[in-house]
Amino acid sequence: MHAKLTSRNPATGEIIREINVTDINDLPLIFQKAREAQAKWALLRPKDRARHIGQLRETILDHIDDLAELISQENGKPFMEAMATEIFPSLEALRYFAKVTPRLMKDRPIPLGLTKHRKSYYNYWPVGTIAVIAPWNYPLLIPFSEIVMALVTGNSVIFKPSEITPLIGLKIQELCDEAGLPPNIIQTVIGDGSLGAAIIENKPAKIFFTGSAATGKKIMAAAAQHLIPVNLELGGNNAMIVLPDADLDFATSAALWGCFANSGQVCAATERLLVHEKLVEPFVSLFKEKISKLRQGNSATKSNDLGPITFDKQKSIYVDRLNEAKAAGMKIITGGEFNPADNFLKPSVIMDGGNGGAKLESLKVYSEETFGSIITISPFKTPAEAIQKTNDTAYGLTASIITNNLELAESIAKQLEVGTVTINEAFHTAGVPETPWGGVKASGFGRTHAEVGLMECVNIRHINRPKTRFLSFKSLWWFPYSPYQLMTFRRIVALYRKNWLDKIRDIPHLLFNFVKFIKEEKRL
Ligand code: NAD
Repeated sequence: MHAKLTSRNPATGEIIREINVTDINDLPLIFQKAREAQAKWALLRPKDRARHIGQLRETILDHIDDLAELISQENGKPFMEAMATEIFPSLEALRYFAKVTPRLMKDRPIPLGLTKHRKSYYNYWPVGTIAVIAPWNYPLLIPFSEIVMALVTGNSVIFKPSEITPLIGLKIQELCDEAGLPPNIIQTVIGDGSLGAAIIENKPAKIFFTGSAATGKKIMAAAAQHLIPVNLELGGNNAMIVLPDADLDFATSAALWGCFANSGQVCAATERLLVHEKLVEPFVSLFKEKISKLRQGNSATKSNDLGPITFDKQKSIYVDRLNEAKAAGMKIITGGEFNPADNFLKPSVIMDGGNGGAKLESLKVYSEETFGSIITISPFKTPAEAIQKTNDTAYGLTASIITNNLELAESIAKQLEVGTVTINEAFHTAGVPETPWGGVKASGFGRTHAEVGLMECVNIRHINRPKTRFLSFKSLWWFPYSPYQLMTFRRIVALYRKNWLDKIRDIPHLLFNFVKFIKEEKRL
């Protein structure tokens, strides 16, 4: 009997389907097939692989409505978000990676200094079989971009979707099969963290992990046992800085989407709004009014702005943060209530109580990742204070700045300890494949997307050769070592002095020793 995973609709609690879990004992064969498929796939020219991958675009386009419906059914997000923030950027990723990879994988020359009689270049080759271990919040976009990057650069993929969104994972596999990708070049395995851990024990050549910092640590520790390189895309506790010159209507709309898209279940979502003290009052009142107009409901209606949260754990975090804020006497600007019987959690906005009690900064809702629809607002007086507050967290994924003063915004941006800063936007660049995605500090390391992301999927081989056959001669540093050889190198080293007179005085000594040296043992 196969163990089963249950996929549920978070809006209704209904079971969508039960799915067979992959048996851990099947992994060695799955890996063997992946390695065999990769060996053939790697022989194709990058532009042929890109053409193959390009077929996926048409296949996705043939299924966009089913796909968006499945995403909103299993993950809960509105149909419009499934279309705009999952399907659209996945197609963009396909277009971009198929376009740039053939150029990027060409050999690249390395200009040399002293050894100009030789030439060096970068030569890229796929790492092998890559494990993509994914979360549930963007169950299509996140793994799909990584799968495309891995495949187009010549790797095969073992893909483990989150146990919370397995059907979307299986749909990705179905689309790849329908697009005619070679068998076993991507294989989707179904299961929870124990299957993820077993994947690592089967020694993939690289791991692309997206998930929580806690799991990231376990993955890194397990991967270290086999020296497997890891790319960790972890959580965030991201700030949006609203500068005093910001337009209030614009700023509140940016904050509304940045905080509550996908019910705040976004690694890069704004969790802390830092608003200049002079704007706090009007900002809060307009923000509250806009929140009250958001339509929350079952995404099957296709006319909602907010869906349910995706699964129960999200509710327990929400309740925990809310109870903590209430107990500490914080001001609940809006929200703060929930119906224990359903998954529709109201957006909640918390501010310091101002009653001399606990400070907002000491609470988890401010200092830890919430990954839900509870956010905080704090005032600041100066840009320096906003920078200090933005950086005052263990995480470093994204930050936003809202202002009309783009020069000031850029100078602030360059002082923020994060992977991405968006000015007058929220986290949308997660869907812009030309730009790098990833964090610093507890948000992880390595990058996906962009040219640097593609480079994470290849090994770098450096090849160094004589420029021509006639320039092959015994190098000056080879055996046998001799006193004149040593003196030659002493004189060469002396040429690094700044003073030109010293350098010029050195040259006759260099020549003298060099001639003696090569007379003793013919090198040229
Ligand atoms: P999670 O860490 O619970 O799980 C992520 C994946 O890891 C799942 O597929 C899970 O089955 C697997 N897993 C769990 N334990 C494992 C183990 N020991 N070995 C191998 N695999 C294991 O995270 P989640 O709840 O799915 O996702 C939410 C988290 O992901 C949040 O912290 C969020 O910020 C983060 N996230 C980050 C990004 C980013 O780009 N930086 C994007 C989306 C989500």
